Amino acid sequence: MEKNEIFIVYGEKPAEMAYRLAEEARLADLIGSRNTRIGLKPNLVVARQADGGATTHPEIAQGLIDYLQKNGFTNIVILEGSWVGDSTADAFSVCGYRKLAKEKGVELIDTQQDNARAYDCKGMKIEICDSARAVEFMINLPVMKGHCQTLLTCALKNNKGIMPDREKRRFHSLGLTKPIAHLNTVARNDFIVVDGVCGDMDFEEGGNPVYAGRLFAARDPVLCDAWAAVQMGYTVDDIPYIGLAEKLGVGSADPGKAAVRELNSSSDGAKNPPRPSGKVKRLAQYIEEDRSCSACYAALIFALSRMEGAELRRLQTPIRIGQGFRGKHGSVGIGRCCSGFNSSVKGCPPSALDILAFLRSSS
Ligand code: SF4
Repeated sequence: MEKNEIFIVYGEKPAEMAYRLAEEARLADLIGSRNTRIGLKPNLVVARQADGGATTHPEIAQGLIDYLQKNGFTNIVILEGSWVGDSTADAFSVCGYRKLAKEKGVELIDTQQDNARAYDCKGMKIEICDSARAVEFMINLPVMKGHCQTLLTCALKNNKGIMPDREKRRFHSLGLTKPIAHLNTVARNDFIVVDGVCGDMDFEEGGNPVYAGRLFAARDPVLCDAWAAVQMGYTVDDIPYIGLAEKLGVGSADPGKAAVRELNSSSDGAKNPPRPSGKVKRLAQYIEEDRSCSACYAALIFALSRMEGAELRRLQTPIRIGQGFRGKHGSVGIGRCCSGFNSSVKGCPPSALDILAFLRSSS
C-alpha cells in the first residue's frame, strides 16, 4: 500500500473486514522483520461498548491479530489510556479487549499506569509513555467520530491515548489544536485502520452513533483525517490541527490527493442496520429511504447534522435515497441511484461534504 492510498471495505463483520484490509495493504511487507514489536492502539476513551459510537470495535483488533499471527508476528501489544477521569482497566473489560488479549495471548498495556518521558515534538515538549515509544510498528485504530471542541476525532487525535493523564490535561489547557499536530511529529502512525462502523456524529463519548458499516485503511494520518473530515461534512479548514500537522511535515492535508480504492461495493454493507435513535432519528424525518446503503445514508445524516434549524426547515423534503429509487423520477435525491431525479448529488456513495453543498444550493 502506498502512502497516498486509502482502502475502504464495507460489511457487517469487522474482524473479516480488518483482515481483508491487512491483506490488501500487504501489511506483513510493511512491517518487515517478524521480531518487530507491534502496537495496536484502539480508542477506548470511555468504558462503553463500541455500538454507542465512542470506542473501537474489538473485532477490528481481532482481525488484525489473526492476520499478524498467521504471518508469523508474535510480539504484539494492545495499548491505550482512557480520557482523564475514566479507568482504562474498566474500558479494557467493558469494551472486550481484556477477553481478546487473553484469547490471542497478546499483552494489554494501560498507559495510565505507565511511565513517560518528554520528547521534542518539532518545537514543543510533549510527554509520551514508555510503552508507546518501545513499539516499533504502530497500528492506529481510531473511531471516525465527532468531537465537541475539535469537531472531528480520527487518527491524529487518537494518539492522545499514548500520553500520561497530566499531559492530556495540559493539552486541553493549550486548546488541543497545536499540541495534537505536534504530538504526531513523534507519535508513530505506521498503519491506520479506521473504525467507521458507527461513529458518533457529535461527541467523542458517543450516544448518537451513525451506522455506516465500513472500515478504511491509510498510511498517512493527515491524509486519513482530511479524507475523514470530508466524509463527515467538514472542510479541512474546519479542523485546524489537520493543516498544522501538514505544515509540520506529518503528511498531506489535501483530500484530493488520496487514491481511494473500494475493495467491495457499498451495497455489501449491512442489510439490516440498527434503527436510528436520538438525534439521528430526528434527522431521519427529512429522509425517505428505500434500500439505501449504510455508508450513503450515514453521509446524508452527517450532512443534515451540519445544518442549522432554519436551513433544515427550508429544505425541500423528503430527500430520497436508496437503490429502490433507481430508474425512478422525483424531486431531490442522493447518489447515483437518484440520477433520474430533477435534482441529485453525484457519487456512490457521495461524501457528506458534497451532500451538504448540494442541499444548501438546492434549498
Ligand atoms: S448511490 Fe445507491 S448504490 Fe450508491 S451508495 Fe448510495 S444507495 Fe448505495
